[in-house]
Amino acid sequence: MEEDRGTRLPERGVLRPLQQALRHLQTAFGNFFAKRAKYPRYKSRKKSRASAEYTRSAFTWRDGRLTLAKMAEPLDIRWSRPLPEGVEPTTVTVSRDSAGRWFVAMLVEDTIAPAPATSAVVGLDAGITSLVTLSTGEKIANPRHERRDRARLAKAQRELSRKAKGSANREKARRKVARVHTRITDRRRDFLHKLTTRLVRENQTVVIEDLTVRNLLKNGKLARAISDAAWTDLRMMLEYKCAWYGRELVVIDRWFPSSKLCGNCGTVREKLPLNVRKWTCECGAVHARDVNAARNILAAGLAASACGDGVRPQRESSRTGRSSVKQETQRATAGLPRP
Ligand SMILES: [Zn+2]
Repeated sequence: MEEDRGTRLPERGVLRPLQQALRHLQTAFGNFFAKRAKYPRYKSRKKSRASAEYTRSAFTWRDGRLTLAKMAEPLDIRWSRPLPEGVEPTTVTVSRDSAGRWFVAMLVEDTIAPAPATSAVVGLDAGITSLVTLSTGEKIANPRHERRDRARLAKAQRELSRKAKGSANREKARRKVARVHTRITDRRRDFLHKLTTRLVRENQTVVIEDLTVRNLLKNGKLARAISDAAWTDLRMMLEYKCAWYGRELVVIDRWFPSSKLCGNCGTVREKLPLNVRKWTCECGAVHARDVNAARNILAAGLAASACGDGVRPQRESSRTGRSSVKQETQRATAGLPRP
């Protein structure tokens, strides 16, 4: 690494981000053919997040200071958190978001000790009014201020829509929308990080529903769109944090009738409109909608995990895996402990 610094040709620094771009294109096509994503599109100067990736030979790292290829001075960085002790970044990504802020992301190798084993398990139900309901009965509300920020966002978007295309005022309005957006997502991400870390630390197994994004995004309501985005982030964070700390994440089929199923007797109701928050089953059990759903999700996940399927299922196979998950659930819910 040391000798690399002196002999570096100036062109290489430019070449590296290009090589990374080719790698990204390959990933994009891979995702497309696996039906995980749409056909890759060109980057747009206006819409894309501008970014460049630098591999090891295109930057120098000395005494905690980062200098990119072709730059004379180290970057003046405000750190979001310290790098782990004694590591050097292997890849550096520089990006600018739509609100005009610059970011540097560093990829480092780090070893994470698995969290101490626990027997606790939890199921999560996604919602709009409360972001997540746990099978323990705990409701996790949306981050504070979000409602007000959302109103601001709607107002900023209305103003943007009235500005003439290509005008300076439109650009100003666009920045304003972007700023409110980033504030909502930043707060939310911070909130989700705290929540997921807590859930993964406290539980050996976490069960969630597979709410496919493709279906969720069809709903045009702002609140809905934001909470769906949050759910996608939440799942992603749970996936990698569970892997880090040696926990199990079980994703159950999205056709599973989590809300309509009575966790007490196993009867599935025909209908349960969204505005019904509490219901009484024929067996006499009284259910709080979200808590009942979260408990059913947990039971289904534990059953699926025990019989070996349903653990991080492939999206394609979730349809075929459906029947086994459902049958197992009926048995498992009967034995579910009531807190
Ligand atoms: Zn019942």
